Amino acid sequence: MLRQLELWDAQAGTAGNGWSVRQSPRARRLSVRVFRHGGVEIVVPPRTPPQRVSAFVSEHREWIERQQRRAARPLAWPLPPAELVLSALGQTWRCSSAAGPGAVRVSELPGRILLLHGQLSDDVGLRRALRGWLVRQARAHFEGPLRALGADLGVIPGALQVRCQRTRWGSCSRHGTISLNACLLFQRPQVLRYLMIHELSHLRHMNHSTRFWGEVARHEPDWRALDRELVQGWRLVPGWMLR
Ligand SMILES: [Zn+2]
Repeated sequence: MLRQLELWDAQAGTAGNGWSVRQSPRARRLSVRVFRHGGVEIVVPPRTPPQRVSAFVSEHREWIERQQRRAARPLAWPLPPAELVLSALGQTWRCSSAAGPGAVRVSELPGRILLLHGQLSDDVGLRRALRGWLVRQARAHFEGPLRALGADLGVIPGALQVRCQRTRWGSCSRHGTISLNACLLFQRPQVLRYLMIHELSHLRHMNHSTRFWGEVARHEPDWRALDRELVQGWRLVPGWMLR
């Protein structure tokens, strides 16, 4: 790992082999994240000398490698899955497969059984079908709570967008459109609620100022712990969602 870092080029900001170094004007200190696909991103404040980056990486080398091994574990998330635990909704769906011709389709059967049928050897099609179903599930179940929380906060959100994203849990546009990640389905209900409060609070404060966090805290005093939980929350998301 250290050897790879020597490839770091301060101009290009890349370190080779799935490593990247990103300068962020908002970063106060160095930080590192390991993506599910095993890629490593080091975020550094502007004008951080390369030696500082090297020292930081050697300090955290063990942790980074441990995360990469975890990301590489091939059998952690079998495809097709045996079941889908949608913690946010308190639902567990058992998956049943029926191989046949044609594109992969997903049907809901009574008793929370999800029937996957079609060409199941087509990994890409299978992932697409499952992601599509999860996005529809999220859209159907997130809208009501989001509107209700909006009413508690005294704000009216615009359109709700649900997407399957690898890097962010949610966002709020200047026009009031709130975007939520379908991967939130795999988080605890409290965590989902916190993220909704977070995005709704952006309708009052389009920043992460003290006043913004004050607004969040008024509705969720435990926001710090929940925010931390969300950072770790990617581990709960099936690997095939993020590929
Ligand atoms: Zn925010």
